[in-house]
Amino acid sequence: MTGPAADGGALPHPATGQRFVSPVPPGTGWPEDPADPATPVATDAASVVDLSSTADLTQACARMSVCRACARLVQWREEVARDKRRAYAAQPYWGRPIAGWGAPKPRILIVGLAPAAHGGNRTGRVFTGDRSGDWLFASLHRVGLATQPISSHAGDGQRLVDTRVVAAVRCAPPDNKPTITERDTCQPWLHREIGLVANSVRCVVCLGSYGWAAALRAFRALGFDVPRPAPRFGHAVDAAVHRSDGVAVTLLGCYHPSQQNTFTGKLTEAMLDAVLLRAREDAAIDRL
Ligand code: SF4
Repeated sequence: MTGPAADGGALPHPATGQRFVSPVPPGTGWPEDPADPATPVATDAASVVDLSSTADLTQACARMSVCRACARLVQWREEVARDKRRAYAAQPYWGRPIAGWGAPKPRILIVGLAPAAHGGNRTGRVFTGDRSGDWLFASLHRVGLATQPISSHAGDGQRLVDTRVVAAVRCAPPDNKPTITERDTCQPWLHREIGLVANSVRCVVCLGSYGWAAALRAFRALGFDVPRPAPRFGHAVDAAVHRSDGVAVTLLGCYHPSQQNTFTGKLTEAMLDAVLLRAREDAAIDRL
């Protein structure tokens, strides 16, 4: 027997055809899964601090991808993964936190809010599988920072050029709204990941005011000189933060490519391209 009755409702991955239950257990063959069954699991805020503080980049991505510190978000992400949206009823859902994705030594960092319930929470890759991500990856490709115009699922061959994308909160929240406590509980993962790549980063594109505030908090926590009062978010607004040796990192504000912003024309493709192009130029990345 190979059907659902034999394997607990497992469904085939769109890229590999391998069958997975939802949510996906770590280390069972999902493309780009950073964890394995032995990866330690954070179960509360204190263990997030503990497990993030000693991790290298590979370990941090693995550990955050199995985190269970926020009870409400764990319940929501797994419920969504089991119930699924009708359009994706034949697919397995990742149903776990979304680690940062892209270059391990990026010159550009993109900071978003949180994964979407039927986007990253389904595909296992940040900004992948929803309309916001479609906008972002199409623009990254137009300006030469992604090798393909679409990011559809882990294992699709997509690759970022000197760029890494992270979410401030790693689990899909109901209504896209994490609580302050959930944001703060997840913050050590973000700070650790940014700290581990900060040496190479020259430009940070902050999607929406949430991404902007999260990036400012992270660089302040990492000991960068951050202007006070904190610079205000705006589209195409920039601000510089400085490392202790004087090296500057530019923060660039960008309206979030949410459907609310793209449907209403608040953010156009040209506006998004212009910000990413400027980031590429600030970070001195040669075109593909
Ligand atoms: Fe863990 Fe962050 Fe998800 Fe909370 S939001 S369970 S801290 S990964």
